[in-house]
Amino acid sequence: MRRPLLAGNWKMNTTGASATELATSLAAQLVNETDSVDVVICPPFPYLAAVGSAISENRIEVGAQDSYFETPGAFTGEVANEMLVDVGCKWVILGHSERRHVLGETDELINKKVAAALEQGLKVILCVGELLSEREDEQTEAVLDRQMQGSLTGISAESVQDLVVAYEPVWAIGTGKTATKEQAESAHHHLRKWLTSRYNPDVADATRILYGGSVKPDNALALMNQPNVDGALVGGASLKADSFIGIIRAGVEASGSN
Ligand code: PGA
Repeated sequence: MRRPLLAGNWKMNTTGASATELATSLAAQLVNETDSVDVVICPPFPYLAAVGSAISENRIEVGAQDSYFETPGAFTGEVANEMLVDVGCKWVILGHSERRHVLGETDELINKKVAAALEQGLKVILCVGELLSEREDEQTEAVLDRQMQGSLTGISAESVQDLVVAYEPVWAIGTGKTATKEQAESAHHHLRKWLTSRYNPDVADATRILYGGSVKPDNALALMNQPNVDGALVGGASLKADSFIGIIRAGVEASGSN
């Protein structure tokens, strides 16, 4: 049984005050939940340290939303993995669809970022997912294969133990259109098959695959009750303590029934 992971991606939201308040509220309300699920929150870079201090007594972990693959040096505007480790980050999200489609990140760049982050001891949430047009053209599995192959080139079976995959259909992100549990399960099953053929059955069995895209407290349990859905990467609904906690509790419930 894979331990569910619930990750909150705050994107380019919050202020210093509201980020600390949200983290403090989560830490105060989440007590026993972290016995059965992992919880990660990913604030914007400037608030990582303050959020880390606000939850320091709790088992919630902090992640970043991106990092650069180079070691510290002359790369204006970028943030190195070493810096993330230095401020107490344990995780980093890489390959998010907004970085792929708004910022133009390629699988080749994401691959370098994945390798560098794992090398620095960070755990990686690698995002993959198809556009609506690709789904309509029945290209979903081909897109997932291409993104997985491209992002994980040269990443060993040993390193991949610190990696979580997030299946995020682009058409479901921030749109209120969640994938059905059948659509999610089918994509997750495909990703696990891919991990079996690229690595081995043990790696495929151990690797957590999260669903992301308009996850809410009222759809989270049905998604996480699918055999290959091991948690959620949550955007909008992670910005309010109550809704994120509702999703986390669905993860706790799913962990007991799967
Ligand atoms: P959403 O975002 O929950 O707001 O759809 C998910 C994500 O982008 O990770």
